[in-house]
Amino acid sequence: MLVLSSPSGAGKTSISRRLLELDDSLSLSISATTRPRRPAETEGEHYFFVSAARFEEMVKTGALFEHAMVFGNQYGTPREPVEEALDAGRDVLFDIDWQGTQQVAEKARDDLVSVFILPPSTEELERRLHSRAQDSDEVVRGRMAKAADEMSHWAEYDYIIINHDLEQSVAQVEAILTAERLKRERRVGLRDFVEGLRIGR
Ligand code: 5GP
Repeated sequence: MLVLSSPSGAGKTSISRRLLELDDSLSLSISATTRPRRPAETEGEHYFFVSAARFEEMVKTGALFEHAMVFGNQYGTPREPVEEALDAGRDVLFDIDWQGTQQVAEKARDDLVSVFILPPSTEELERRLHSRAQDSDEVVRGRMAKAADEMSHWAEYDYIIINHDLEQSVAQVEAILTAERLKRERRVGLRDFVEGLRIGR
């Protein structure tokens, strides 16, 4: 499980999208949210947009792997698709906040790699939030105010990336993925492979 977190506007969504294009064994976990859909968003691709009542039901029935209130809206990770992907030997990418990351870490610390993405500067973060222009000025102001709070959790993450340049940041996440996949404890069947190498000696 690979978690990417950042204040909104730091470039996490662009990095995730590029990673998914480049890496065939990575699946994106698509969250459920009570936030209204933005014009450029598609149901089932960016989020599952659900009512507050439906979200509550998902929480009650244990259908969510983790969930949290972010900017006054509920967000949560549907459990089933994550378990199916992991069972099929795929790696799963989560675009979730620090609260969700803490919950995933409690449940599966050994299987989690967490990456925090920082913007190069406050000015750049504000510029990106404005240029996205999908949210009202009031929402942008609210998100800037929350950015400091989100960023205060950077030290809880395994890796920190400062997003100066999209391609460079993507290459850095790929390097993390490659190294983490090569870790001894994640090498299923390695013992047998090494045993096999000794045959005939
Ligand atoms: P946005 O509304 O801009 O798409 O997302 C707002 C924040 O909610 C982002 O920081 C995003 O990472 C976080 N988020 C999105 N989906 C989930 C989720 O399923 N769980 C949690 N805990 N946070 C989420």
